[in-house]
Amino acid sequence: MSAATLSRNGARVERQPLARYTTLGVGGPAEVWFVADHAQLAEAMETPYRILGGGSNLVIADEGVSERVIRLTGPLAERDLEPDPALSTSEEIVTGWVGGGVPLPGLVRTLQKLGLSNLEGTVGIPAQVGGAVWMNAGTRYGEMFDGLHAIEIVTPEGVRQVSPTDLNWGYRNSGIPRGHVVSRVRLKLRRSTPEAVLAKMDFADQARKGQPKMKTPGCAFKNPGGVSAGKLIDEAGLKGTRIGGAMIAPEHANFIVNLGGATATDVHGLLTVIRQRVGVPMELEYELWPEQP
Ligand SMILES: Cc1cc2nc3c(=O)[nH]c(=O)nc-3n(C[C@H](O)[C@H](O)[C@H](O)COP(=O)(O)OP(=O)(O)OC[C@H]3O[C@@H](n4cnc5c(N)ncnc54)[C@H](O)[C@@H]3O)c2cc1C
Repeated sequence: MSAATLSRNGARVERQPLARYTTLGVGGPAEVWFVADHAQLAEAMETPYRILGGGSNLVIADEGVSERVIRLTGPLAERDLEPDPALSTSEEIVTGWVGGGVPLPGLVRTLQKLGLSNLEGTVGIPAQVGGAVWMNAGTRYGEMFDGLHAIEIVTPEGVRQVSPTDLNWGYRNSGIPRGHVVSRVRLKLRRSTPEAVLAKMDFADQARKGQPKMKTPGCAFKNPGGVSAGKLIDEAGLKGTRIGGAMIAPEHANFIVNLGGATATDVHGLLTVIRQRVGVPMELEYELWPEQP
């Protein structure tokens, strides 16, 4: 760790362990740029960078990463949910800007209390808005692109606003290239009631009952050829297998959890064991930083 400094445009810059920003609780150090506005974001993008959201789909190496790691803070992590009178109707509202750094779970809870529908299917996804939009995160009950009116994207070339119809989005994919930062979005929500939205959230939440409650980066593998990856790992007898502080969850075999003190090396060890024992090609669901061949 190092003392924080301020960049030319006022971004706070500090070398920190990334473990504190991931849901797995694993990850070595990097130079973290806390950017609060577009000028700071543009400056952070002047040399190789990575953008970190809620860290809920990442396994970051114990050595950390050499690039700058950008975190959206301040106004880029705030939300204006006021309906825009020019774009809202008696049935639907378009909000002001919601920062890419806003935690999705809190946003979904607030929308439920306001009786605003369209994003309740994403309940339980521990992402930030920017990361969830970039992946089009979702469940069978709904996804991020159900509730978007406009997306602001920042690249080293500048800032632009797009409509979802401008993007080639699809299943768990926004069509936004890697490295383009989702800085803010405007939401498009249907007027409903808190009770009706809550009922849908409860329904979507039911599907998570069997998931482990410990530190994890979510599902490890995609379902190969439509077969449940969890079932294949379970059938290979691997539930409860441990390496160091990492374990294949006894509750659900497609989750690797941190029992405390796990390292990225432990997690990689388990991923290798799974691949060897399951015997069919398995594609990772989460991202590795740095990427591995
Ligand atoms: C317990 C648990 C349950 C989960 N359940 C689901 C589920 O039901 N459905 C589902 O789809 N996913 C699920 N996930 C996975 C994860 O939450 C999603 O993939 C989510 O979209 C990751 O968002 P994030 O903000 O955490 O991104 P990160 O993990 O921080 O980053 C993931 C990728 O997004 C990029 N990124 C992050 N922020 C931005 C930004 N502002 N602009 C551009 N790119 C950005 C990063 O550079 C990286 O490439 C789950 C994860 C956990 C731990």
